[in-house]
Amino acid sequence: MPVSCATNCGKNAILKRPKTGDALCKECFFMAFETEIHHTIINGKLFKHGDKIAIGASGGKDSTVLAYVLKTLNERYKYGLDLFLLSIDEGITGYRDDSLKTVEQNRDDYKMPLKILSYKDLYGWTMDEIVAQIGRKNNCTFCGVFRRQALDRGAALLGVDCIATGHNADDIAETVLMNILRGDIARLQRCTSIITSGADTIMRCKPLKYTYEKEIVMYAYFKKLIYFSTECVFAPNAYRGHARTYLKNLEKIRSTSIIDIIHSGERLQIKESIKMPVRRNCSRCGFVSSQEICKACILLEGLNRGLPKLGIGKSQKALNVTRELSTSSLTKSTSLQRI
Ligand code: SF4
Repeated sequence: MPVSCATNCGKNAILKRPKTGDALCKECFFMAFETEIHHTIINGKLFKHGDKIAIGASGGKDSTVLAYVLKTLNERYKYGLDLFLLSIDEGITGYRDDSLKTVEQNRDDYKMPLKILSYKDLYGWTMDEIVAQIGRKNNCTFCGVFRRQALDRGAALLGVDCIATGHNADDIAETVLMNILRGDIARLQRCTSIITSGADTIMRCKPLKYTYEKEIVMYAYFKKLIYFSTECVFAPNAYRGHARTYLKNLEKIRSTSIIDIIHSGERLQIKESIKMPVRRNCSRCGFVSSQEICKACILLEGLNRGLPKLGIGKSQKALNVTRELSTSSLTKSTSLQRI
């Protein structure tokens, strides 16, 4: 027996929204999904008329849906945004090389300019080369630290006002859990922020902050969007995977777990007496850091010295090298390569 769409539009429902449980037809689901993101953008004051926005594009479902929805909302509500795609090529054979082809397809389909920056050009190393040095542990530590800075560099090159990333509600809930499990108070405090910015950093925002991953997949499927769905070859060893499994199990018991965890993270307050790291600029490369020398410079120094584990953890050797780097002048062989 067909079920009528919950909006009383007269059509039959073809899906049940994971977020609300509403039975909707395809068109009403599209409208509900897009309107919620529009409200997130407006309530969070994410953009200003005339802003240049770089969409962090990986070719995956989240960034593909983000690019498509931002283009749609920009036209529907006349945001007046200048949209770009910004991709980082980590140099992961069998993963990023293929997913970048999808981003190029997005560029053509959505008529957005695309900028691709590679780890090889920025740091002198591909992720494949890094993994050959460090083995299959801590891969995401290197990759995440380098990607964060690479996006900042790309955004600076494009001269954008803001980087919009495809982090969805599930990603944010996972990050809250990971930061609790690691006892990382500084990250715990800022990981639920919809906007992050500092005096010398380009603003970042997460328009999909309250959007469930399951609905992103549904939207991409019914809109027939082209995206790349293969997992990174280094992902199975990522710590995030354990947090994800835990979250999925929680969700089976309590369907609102994702949004509940995000709200808990948002309400969290750190006592004033707790000493928090101060964000500043790395004295070596000039990019944002919570230390005198940023993590990217330390990791890169370790790779270049043949001591790839140098920046992992807080060993005495790493502290010594940090001190050495703080006092030394830049040398071409070990410093971040400017592009
Ligand atoms: Fe990089 Fe880890 Fe993501 Fe792979 S899973 S792209 S190694 S951060």
